[in-house]
Amino acid sequence: INIEDKTIDVIKDLGRGAYGIVEHVRHTESQFEMALKRITAVSQEGKRFLMDRDVLEQTRESDSIVKYYGALFGEGDLWVFMEIMDASLDKFYRKYYGMENENSPIVTIEPFPESVLGKIAENVVSALDFLYKRRIIHRDVKPSNILINVKGQVKLCDFGISGYLVNSIARTFDAGCKPYMAPERINPSKENPGYDIRSDVWSFGITMMEIAIGQFPYPQAQTLFDQLKRVCKEDPPKLPENSSYSDSFKDFLAKW
Ligand code: ADP
Ligand code: MG
Repeated sequence: INIEDKTIDVIKDLGRGAYGIVEHVRHTESQFEMALKRITAVSQEGKRFLMDRDVLEQTRESDSIVKYYGALFGEGDLWVFMEIMDASLDKFYRKYYGMENENSPIVTIEPFPESVLGKIAENVVSALDFLYKRRIIHRDVKPSNILINVKGQVKLCDFGISGYLVNSIARTFDAGCKPYMAPERINPSKENPGYDIRSDVWSFGITMMEIAIGQFPYPQAQTLFDQLKRVCKEDPPKLPENSSYSDSFKDFLAKW
């Protein structure tokens, strides 16, 4: 469909992130429904990446990646059109545990069903594998970037974008986000100079742990600096000893 003419109707707001807003929209002419992400502060490099049709088109081959329909510049922002899904996992697990918002207590004590965790893991691993084979690092694996729909599909979104955004690490914290990033990304060293796919695996482990226990696995620290220090200095978080999850799930989380 031709979205260049920008004739779209907004159905409702879906959420807000550090870089802009996401809306459920309908293309007026075709009545096709999509999610529209309006991103502000995109670097030159980012503009090039997001316009890279090869990358966008390739991801259509994976059932575990949210489909990207295209991007264009509108009203000074970058508009990214993508497949509309029904919920992100951060909201889904909070609802499951009966939490009103991200800081409220867990009401349901039943653990999150392990079969669902398995299904999530299967799809995220498949999506990451697909990206890595094409030399794309995701860079922002976290519960809100894993989307689900009523068909029972689980898909990863927002790959590769964060690395191109202006001042992305600083903004992550402005928005009150939690550090899903791996120690080597917070504190690069000679032996561990930067960022490769293993950093995504770290974030994936933190994400699975968060869903399994209903909260971000690093306790809220006094300052951001303290929290980052814990990520770098402490052993990776573990499931509590008395947790009712299976040994194979515990082992899975202990592997990363
Ligand atoms: P973040 O991922 O940090 O929450 P985003 O700007 O990427 O910030 O997204 C904001 C919210 O919009 C997400 O938390 C998610 O709930 C919702 N969302 C994003 N993309 C889609 C989509 N394709 N379909 C449905 N909801 C979406
Ligand atoms: Mg996102």
